[in-house]
Amino acid sequence: MKNGHLPVAIQENISLKPYNSFGIDAQASYFTPFRSEDELEEILAMSLPGPVLVLGGGSNLLFTKDFNGLVLKNEISGITELHEDSEYVYVRAGAGENWHQFVQYSIGRGWAGAENLSLIPGNVGATPMQNIGAYGVEIEDIFWDLEAYHIREKRKVTFTNTDCEFGYRESVFKKKYRDQFVILNVTYRFHKHPRFNISYGAIATELERMGVRDLSIVAVSQAVMNIRRSKLPDPATIANAGSFFKNPEVPAAKLEELRIKYPGIIAYPLLNGNVNWRQDG
Ligand SMILES: Cc1cc2nc3c(=O)[nH]c(=O)nc-3n(C[C@H](O)[C@H](O)[C@H](O)COP(=O)(O)OP(=O)(O)OC[C@H]3O[C@@H](n4cnc5c(N)ncnc54)[C@H](O)[C@@H]3O)c2cc1C
Repeated sequence: MKNGHLPVAIQENISLKPYNSFGIDAQASYFTPFRSEDELEEILAMSLPGPVLVLGGGSNLLFTKDFNGLVLKNEISGITELHEDSEYVYVRAGAGENWHQFVQYSIGRGWAGAENLSLIPGNVGATPMQNIGAYGVEIEDIFWDLEAYHIREKRKVTFTNTDCEFGYRESVFKKKYRDQFVILNVTYRFHKHPRFNISYGAIATELERMGVRDLSIVAVSQAVMNIRRSKLPDPATIANAGSFFKNPEVPAAKLEELRIKYPGIIAYPLLNGNVNWRQDG
């Protein structure tokens, strides 16, 4: 396929350097952004050769070589308040919305649940991929459903929270449905009455340092941002991968054994009776 024979939107042999937080200068044979389901359908109907890679903010991708296929940059935008009841508000966000900006938007409206997930890089569409999590909260805690487009079967499918089979940094999209779906939008269920989770990491200490007397979602979000900024540089300024280690999960008895050797070890109980331990503060 030669330049000039492709519709304007499809670019050939494009450097992916601006599109991944590591700043790796890998090339994509074909590259195009898309802003709607219709545009996506149109692009996929072209049946370009090679595999398809869906790109969000590029903060969880490490290119080790050129990508000989089509890179689809998801730029579906829009935030819609679907409905609410006495406890919750249901909000749909386009997969291309920046996650942190969306979190700040929700906090600005007094919707609770995402404050502990402030400042995680990337876009809305990738949040269910690995069930992103930080400071004792995971996306599954506020996830309601999502709409995704099946690349090969060319049809739209809705996934509920159960359908996603969320686990610790896991979902069906990393396992049995790997590389099969393009996530179009995600609906989150926010709490109208906050239930704060400040027991994890240094949040309580940071809130105290900030002099916070009345707990609020704004304060918790600010505390999380302060802690994150003190630990990691902004990937937009200095390319970095954040932390891609998973905290080990061990039986409680194993933790006691480890505590003898490492008295300062930090651990949190899990619902299944095990503990999740980590080495930093
Ligand atoms: C500094 C730093 C700190 C981080 N901190 C955390 C943290 O605290 N907790 C945490 O969980 N993660 C963290 N991460 C990892 C990263 O922020 C998340 O995994 C984030 O969800 C990635 O979003 P993205 O849009 O950049 O995804 P990308 O890197 O663009 O894509 C990641 C994967 O998802 C797929 N994908 C993306 N969008 C779609 C879509 N719409 N449809 C289908 N597939 C899609 C891609 O194909 C790829 O396989 C951190 C990363 C960095 C660099």
